[in-house]
Amino acid sequence: MKWKGKRQSSNIEDRRGQSGSSRGRGGFNSMLIGPLIKILFSKTGLIIVGLFLVFSLITGNNPLRILGQFFVGGNNPTETSTPYLGSREENELVDFSATILASTEDVWNEILNNYREPTLVLFTGYVSSACGSASSATGPFYCPGDEKLYLDLSFFHDMELKLNAPGDFAQAYVIAHEVGHHIQKIMGISDKVQLLRGQMSEKEYNQYSVRLELQADFLAGVWAHHSQKMTHMMETGDLEEALNAAFAIGDDRLQKQSTGRVVPDSFTHGTSEQRIRWFKKGFDTGDIEQGDTFNANPL
Ligand SMILES: [Zn+2]
Repeated sequence: MKWKGKRQSSNIEDRRGQSGSSRGRGGFNSMLIGPLIKILFSKTGLIIVGLFLVFSLITGNNPLRILGQFFVGGNNPTETSTPYLGSREENELVDFSATILASTEDVWNEILNNYREPTLVLFTGYVSSACGSASSATGPFYCPGDEKLYLDLSFFHDMELKLNAPGDFAQAYVIAHEVGHHIQKIMGISDKVQLLRGQMSEKEYNQYSVRLELQADFLAGVWAHHSQKMTHMMETGDLEEALNAAFAIGDDRLQKQSTGRVVPDSFTHGTSEQRIRWFKKGFDTGDIEQGDTFNANPL
C-alpha cells in the first residue's frame, strides 16, 4: 500500500503500556536490585542497615514501611512510570493504523450523513472497555457501548506468523472490518440483532451473528472501493492480501488450525469462502444497498 504521507486520524487513544495488570506499575525497580544487594551484604552495608534500624527505632517509623517506600517508589506509582516507547516497527504500525482510520473517516463521511467517527484504542496485553475487559488473545474488537475499536498491534504480527495472512492491506482490512461494525451500530443494525438474542436459541442466534460478521466484511469492501477512488493507496497484490486474510481469519480455518476439524454450529464469522465473497461484493460494487446479508439466500 502507498499509505505514507497521507492524513492520519486524531481519533486515536494510545493506551499501550497501560495493560491494566500490575506489570510496570510501581513494582521493584529491577535495575536497582543487583547493586543494592551487593551493598547490603558488604561491611558498609551492614553498618548502614544497623544505623537505619536504630534511626527507625528512635523516630518510631516502621523500618519495613520505609524500606518498602524506598524500593517501590511511593504510593502513587503511575506518576513515576515512564511513557511507553514502542519499537520503530511498532510505532510505524501506529502511523499506519491512524492513516487507515483517517481513510475510513473520509469514505464514511462521504457515504453517510452525520457520520460519528469512532475512536481507535491501541493497547498492549489487557484493556478495559464499556463491553468489559479483554486480553490481546480476544483479537481486535469493536465495542458498541463506547463506539471504540480496540486493537493490540501484536495481532498484525500474529496474522503474519500464525495465520499466514501477511501484508499491510490485510491489516487495513482488519481495521475496516471493525469500522464496519461501527457502521452497523450507527445504522441500528447491531441493536436489532442484539434484541433477537433473548428470543431464540443460541444456535439460531448464531446464524444472525454470522450475517452480522459477513456484513462487516462487505462494509470493509465498500470502504476499500471508495478509498481506492479517493487516495489510490492500493497496489497490485493488495486485494489478494485482503482476500487471503479473509480466508485465513474465516472461522472454519481458525477452527481447523486449533482443533483439526470444523464444527459448523459454532461458526460466528462465516466460512472463508463467504467472507471472501462478501468482501469482494462490497469492493466491486461500493454500494451499501448491496450488503443485505440478512435477507441473502444462499448466504
Ligand atoms: Zn467482526
